[in-house]
Amino acid sequence: MRKIHLITFGCQMNKLDSELAAEALAGAGHALVASEAEADLVLFNTCSVRDRAERRVLSRLAQLRPRREAEPGFRLGLMGCFAERDGARLLERLPYLDFAVGTRQFARLPEIVARLDYGRERIGFFGGRAEAEGDPGIGPASPRKRHSGLHGFVSVMRGCDNRCSYCIVPETRGGEVSRPPLEVAAEARALVLAGAREITLLGQNIDAYRKGSGFGLADLLRLIDREISGDAGLLRLRFVTSHPRDITRELAAAVREFPRAARHFHMPAQSGSDGVLARMRRGYDLAAYRERLAMLREEVPGAAVASDFIVGFPGETEADFLATLDLVERSGFQNSFIFKYSPRPGTPAARDFADDVPEEEKRRRNRVLLAAQDRVNRERGAGLIGTRLTVLAEGPSPRDPDRWIGRTDGNLICVFPPPVQGSDRAGSLLELEVLSASSLTLFCRLAPGGAAKP
Ligand code: SF4
Repeated sequence: MRKIHLITFGCQMNKLDSELAAEALAGAGHALVASEAEADLVLFNTCSVRDRAERRVLSRLAQLRPRREAEPGFRLGLMGCFAERDGARLLERLPYLDFAVGTRQFARLPEIVARLDYGRERIGFFGGRAEAEGDPGIGPASPRKRHSGLHGFVSVMRGCDNRCSYCIVPETRGGEVSRPPLEVAAEARALVLAGAREITLLGQNIDAYRKGSGFGLADLLRLIDREISGDAGLLRLRFVTSHPRDITRELAAAVREFPRAARHFHMPAQSGSDGVLARMRRGYDLAAYRERLAMLREEVPGAAVASDFIVGFPGETEADFLATLDLVERSGFQNSFIFKYSPRPGTPAARDFADDVPEEEKRRRNRVLLAAQDRVNRERGAGLIGTRLTVLAEGPSPRDPDRWIGRTDGNLICVFPPPVQGSDRAGSLLELEVLSASSLTLFCRLAPGGAAKP
């Protein structure tokens, strides 16, 4: 049996895949260890969304090469998007890489790891289709012991049928495959019974869940509401990521009706310029995005909306960028994740457009947009001083063990003095009063009578 150290790059979906892979490997008798030094197999779960994530994996692999060559039995493996996109070539190019397994084949990890003990064959499994039944890519769903504590993640669909021109996801994860609703609800329930208090439903384009079937994401929220009563301990339900074209009024209404649904949406705009949006093939223009934003706020009063932006997309002029800046300044986003464009081989944008915005200009636009979002955050924080907020208490802050950390349902981070000695209120909803605010954090105290729910 092997001692495996699993290193994860990339998005929440990758983190969930790592949990599922770890669980499958532990089920096959392997031990998951916390450090490279203890391990006799280092497995990287890789990301291909940006060039930098790929370069980091290659550099970590190169660092481990001397050990791989000197230590009999020590092995190196790759899974995830980079493995899917480039695994066959990497196996050819890197003689010290033992296996690479793509995004829809990682249910085979126990078999692959067993094969490492026999001979020196180099193994690659790529392509294929995620299973519609069972947890896509890893086998049937079952009550799971996961490591995420209060936060449980459930994959409800995989892949994406959109073709945003900059995006490698349809290439690396394939087309959309949705899981059966009862299976999703059963897994969410099992996680709650195992101690999760907040469940996040994951899908690359989650609003397209079972699109056209007559049972969509809004129905799934209602089903989970019915299946998991408050007594089972579920305090919050989230879902990511929403596409502006697919998000519906019905879904927003379901969020409003379901008391445990977080009033929080992650609906990436990517740009405020119609020309850039068209070249990105996002399927909406600025007016349509603003209309969706207004609809969410009308249906769900107080809704927090987070967005993503790419700066320096091919052909982005100063006027295009100013339109994006205007969108950030006026929209009151709860958060904006801002990225500099980097061409991904295999995407339409890399094929069709020259990467013509200079790196220095991309950096400047990145800084300007970050500063604009920072101002939005500070204004919002200042407006919250003196108000009361309900947070899900997570326990001691990783940065300062003398304070606790919690999140509002809009995903605002609050720090506050420990409510009681000990940890018996981690996982509870607490009511706090905001004393001061920075861009990303609200500094609070427990409001008088502040335990909202045990
Ligand atoms: S919606 Fe667009 S950006 Fe999101 S995963 Fe699909 S193709 Fe990629």
